[in-house]
Amino acid sequence: MSTVLITGASRGIGLATAREFANAGWDLLLTARNEASLDSLAEELVNTGRTIRYKPIDLSDPEAVPNGFRDLLGQGLCPSVLINNAGVAWTGDLISMPLDSWQWVVQMNLTSIFQICSQVIPVMRSRGGLVINVSSHAANNAFPQWGAYCVSKAALSSFTKCLAEEERIHSIRACTLTLGSVNSTIWDTDTVQSNFDRNSMLSVEQVATTLLQLAEQPSNQVIEDLTLMPSTGAF
Ligand code: NAP
Repeated sequence: MSTVLITGASRGIGLATAREFANAGWDLLLTARNEASLDSLAEELVNTGRTIRYKPIDLSDPEAVPNGFRDLLGQGLCPSVLINNAGVAWTGDLISMPLDSWQWVVQMNLTSIFQICSQVIPVMRSRGGLVINVSSHAANNAFPQWGAYCVSKAALSSFTKCLAEEERIHSIRACTLTLGSVNSTIWDTDTVQSNFDRNSMLSVEQVATTLLQLAEQPSNQVIEDLTLMPSTGAF
């Protein structure tokens, strides 16, 4: 039986992905901050017959990440796929951005992923595995008002490529799923100001289906980066 570890599973893309994988027969290790949402998701998915374990972890706190993941990994499931999905956005000018907001974006979208990989990859190595980092077309573009987000996702792409090269000898594959706009709860968060048309965006279910396809690639091949855009393009 295969196990996937999904971060940011309480809502948005992560929630849809947890449902997609459980319905496809995967066991789940889940995390986010909102324990009540994780608990109700586990309850909802009971009828899939899958084993589901979760642990609330605040990825914005670098001190909390190692112990949190040690606890999650100690719950009896060994992941063969890790989906680093949790992420945040902040809109506004780079030059007037407060330092603590900059550090929050970088901690959430880059440093926490380094910390998670440091905990999860050693336990994957004996059987091989796949790391999927959820990125954005912002990694490849300079979007005004989205500077810190663009920088964090560009750095994540570089991190993923370096990780893939280093871990190849341990049969660990690493890839990015690069997304255009997705109609998720990120657009409702306090740190994002936007008036984009959400009806033109990808659905979270479309992204979840794509993540499952990436996870189910044969172990002797890897899609190093898959870009999924709404057919309406970038806006
Ligand atoms: P979302 O709807 O805002 O969901 C974010 C998830 O991350 C939630 O489960 C949230 O759970 C978790 N999270 C937020 N802060 C956290 C923290 N401090 N500690 C632990 N978990 C935290 O976002 P989404 O749109 O699904 O985004 C998922 C990924 O897709 C992100 O990496 C994002 O950059 C990427 N992406 C999104 C879009 C888009 O248009 N939506 C486009 C390209 C890429 P809690 O609040 O319970 O902690």
